[in-house]
Parts: sequence; C-alpha cells; structure tokens
Amino acid sequence: MTYNKIHIATASPELTVGSVLVIYTGGTLGMVYEVKEKQLVPFHFDQIIERVPEISRLNFDITFLSLNEPIDSSNMNPDIWIELATIIADEYTHYDSFVILHGTDTMAYTASALSYLLEDLNKPVILTGAQLPIGVARSDARENVITALELASARNSEGLPVISEVCVYFNSMLLRGNRSKKQESSNFNAFHSENYPYLANAGVRIEYNWPYIKPFEPGKTLQVQKRLDTNVAFLKMFPGINARVVHSILQMEGLKGVVLETYGAGNATTDQWFLDAVAQAISRGMVLFNVSQCDGGRVAQGHYETSRFLKQVGVVSGSDITAEAAITKMMYVFGRENDPAKCARMLATPLRGEMSI
Ligand code: ASP
Repeated sequence: MTYNKIHIATASPELTVGSVLVIYTGGTLGMVYEVKEKQLVPFHFDQIIERVPEISRLNFDITFLSLNEPIDSSNMNPDIWIELATIIADEYTHYDSFVILHGTDTMAYTASALSYLLEDLNKPVILTGAQLPIGVARSDARENVITALELASARNSEGLPVISEVCVYFNSMLLRGNRSKKQESSNFNAFHSENYPYLANAGVRIEYNWPYIKPFEPGKTLQVQKRLDTNVAFLKMFPGINARVVHSILQMEGLKGVVLETYGAGNATTDQWFLDAVAQAISRGMVLFNVSQCDGGRVAQGHYETSRFLKQVGVVSGSDITAEAAITKMMYVFGRENDPAKCARMLATPLRGEMSI
C-alpha cells in the first residue's frame, strides 16, 4: 500500500536527536469543524505545522504519514491494526521512533493489539490523541503531541531509547499501552492504568519511573505477527443474566474464545445452568478468559466459592489484565495457535507486560 508522507521538520544536523515517524489515523485530535455540515470532520494532515507550529522548533527529524482514510477510532478494526504494524515494520530501520495519532475511544485497544503484534520491539511506539480538536484554543492536542514526540526521542546516556515498548501518552502521563484504559470522556485525564504504575510523568521536567519501564533488549529483532482472529466475544455478568443470553454466546458456531467479565476477584453466579454452559463450552474446545469488571485488583479464581468452579473446569485467569488487553490478546493468540490447550497457556502467560502473574 502507498501512503501520503510529508517530511515536515528537519533539525539542523548538529542538533538533531533522532528521527520520528508520526502516523496519523484520525480521531478528535485532527478534527476541524465543518460549518456546512455542522460537524467535526478529520483535517488534512499537511496542515499540522499550521496548527502546531511548535513542532518545527523541535530538534527532531519528523515525517508525517497519514492513513489513506483517517477515521474516528470507533471505526478502528483489526485490519487497520495489522496495517499499522506493517507500516512500523516496513519503516523500522528508517526511523528511531514512532508516534501514532489516534482517537481516544479505542486507543487502549489499538495500543494493546500493537503490543502483541510487534514482537521484540526495541523502539518507542507512542500513541496519543486529544479530548479537544486541534483547532480549538483550549485543545490538549498540542501538549500531547509535543510531549509524545519528546518521549519518543528520549535517549539514555548510552544513546539507547529510554522507551522501547508500546505506550499511551496523555495529559502528562506515559502509560504502558496494554495497561491503559479510557476512563474519561469529558475531562483531559482521559486515560489511566489502575494496575500498573505510570512510566513517566511530564511535569516541568519529565520524571521517568525507571523500575517499571521495559528495558531495551540488545540484539532483539522486530518480528511482526500479521494474523488476528476475531472469533472472540465478551460475556459480561450481571445479576439477572439469563440462560438464553449465555447460551447464545457460549454455543455460537465458530466462536473460539470468550472474555468472561466477572464480578470482583473473578466471581460469577453458581446457578447450575450457568456452570453447565461453561463446562460444555470448554469441553467443546472454547477458551474462556476470566477478567474482572473492577478496574483495580485482580482475579483470584478459587478465593471465593463463586469462582471455584471456574477454576476447576479450566477457565483461564486473567489476573489484573484490562478487558481491552484481554480481547486483543485472544485475537492474537488464536491468530497464532489452533490448539485450545496451547491458546489457554499463552493467555495465562504475560506476553508483553500486560498482566501480573
Ligand atoms: N470519537 C473520537 C475517536 O475516538 C474521540 C476522540 O478522539 O477523543 O476517534
């Protein structure tokens, strides 16, 4: 596929601290108000310098690339995740770091998916966006973009990238991408990471939270997985959920895996019809992944009587994984493996720091 690329800022060679490829996918950040339609529509990315003139003062070599059709991230899908991973793989040796401009609605899903697809990543891939369009005076877009660029370009004393994983940067916090979650649709603090500490806090100075940052791994070569299997679903528990609803999901033709969104520490109803439905699904080869509806804390199957059965029949514990990281992990795992037992083992194993054991 060919993309529109614009090389918009070249630092003078003696000052340059590296090259960044900025990939524009759409979202509020790049929206402008269209008077005729009375709605927000994606702007043309070659206007970026006009909108954020500060970019040309940074000491980085910046190239902008836009997806052919920028989207509201509610239209994000696994094909575009593979497209993004492929762009990064194709451009990997040409740039020191990557920044992805993305809508906030599904940013946590994209960050999670990319973290799995980009195996042995040794360069920063930082996603950012904004709560207010770039054309609005009070927009958070400028700060988010500029600091994401700074973080992407940060090098340690040996000249190695400080960040070598997929992250989300928003409202002064750098978070591990597959631990992030959209928590806010009105305020600027759109993202949080309840179960894993922030990686950096960009105040007056950028403070790195060193013990939690994935270290650079010398000798690793990027491998890109290009298959995601979408035969997965969420099943969210609620008091009153009935057998027809549960059966319609657990007996669905071709469905390989279900993220079971449980209460508290991984608990669900012990009604016999539910236990039978779960046991039958697993015996037919379906893989169930237990993820808590609580943002904080973790699944501990067997801790309560209401989760003991799930453990006994082989539901995989999701520990402290987010729902976003869980569903994308299932797509990745089923894209790689066919055998349900192997898939269950991969789900139970932290692959990119997305869950604690
Ligand atoms: N609907 C927008 C999107 O996710 C919201 C945003 O960018 O903040 O693309």
